[in-house]
Amino acid sequence: MFDRFNRKLNYLRISVTDRCNLRCTYCMPEEGIKLFRHEDILSFDEIAGFTKVAVANGVTKVRLTGGEPLVRKGVTTLVRMISDIKGIDDLSMTTNGTLLKQYAKELRNSGLHRVNISLDTVDPEKFKAVTRLGNINDVFEGINAAKSAGLYPIKINCVIKESKDEEEAKAVTRFCKENDLEIRYIHQMDLVMGHFSVVDGGTGGNCSLCNRLRLTSNGKLKPCLFSNIEFDIRDFGFEEAIKRAAELKPRCGSKNETGAFYNIGG
Ligand code: SF4
Repeated sequence: MFDRFNRKLNYLRISVTDRCNLRCTYCMPEEGIKLFRHEDILSFDEIAGFTKVAVANGVTKVRLTGGEPLVRKGVTTLVRMISDIKGIDDLSMTTNGTLLKQYAKELRNSGLHRVNISLDTVDPEKFKAVTRLGNINDVFEGINAAKSAGLYPIKINCVIKESKDEEEAKAVTRFCKENDLEIRYIHQMDLVMGHFSVVDGGTGGNCSLCNRLRLTSNGKLKPCLFSNIEFDIRDFGFEEAIKRAAELKPRCGSKNETGAFYNIGG
């Protein structure tokens, strides 16, 4: 499918939960968040059913995000359900890596191809300060487990303030070189203020080439991260929601006053 600006929309990002086991300072308030009601969260059948219709409309690339997708109970079953859909060339997950040691093998066996892992520092104390709850050794063990399981490539998402020449980013860059990992630098973004930029080493944030649709864990289909436009797939139905999202995808992002990174999945 194409939008009004002739952009091919073949990439669906699915947030499977708004919950997370970390509290990163640039993403979540320390006290936590008002979580979606259980009944508002899409079931696996709804997510897989919607993805099937999206694939029939041209989606070939699917990424599972959160919150933290691995805190969603039974997520490997969902991976299996999605990987069974014919027409998906690329099935990936963005995770904070702290639970990967536990799930990497099962994810790979369920059909996941690759992972992006968030890591903004390799300093244990700074990691603790940024995530408020995390232990960096869990991430290191998660990276090793992903390698052993054959998830490939493994990309590191490194959030930066201004530049990849910041001390923490340079240390993460060295770590990636030493460990055969790809790295992408993501500038801190502000949804409400509309501050975003192109991901260094990736394709995100380049509106002229944007191929993305996003499904939130409570069933809102968003044609753009930096926009308030969204269509409830339970109200509109899968096909109609996709049609409207493609028709009304903005030429470029502006502001998003309704959502948050932890419930859209970045
Ligand atoms: S701001 Fe919107 S249009 Fe631009 S790259 Fe992000 S999602 Fe795509």
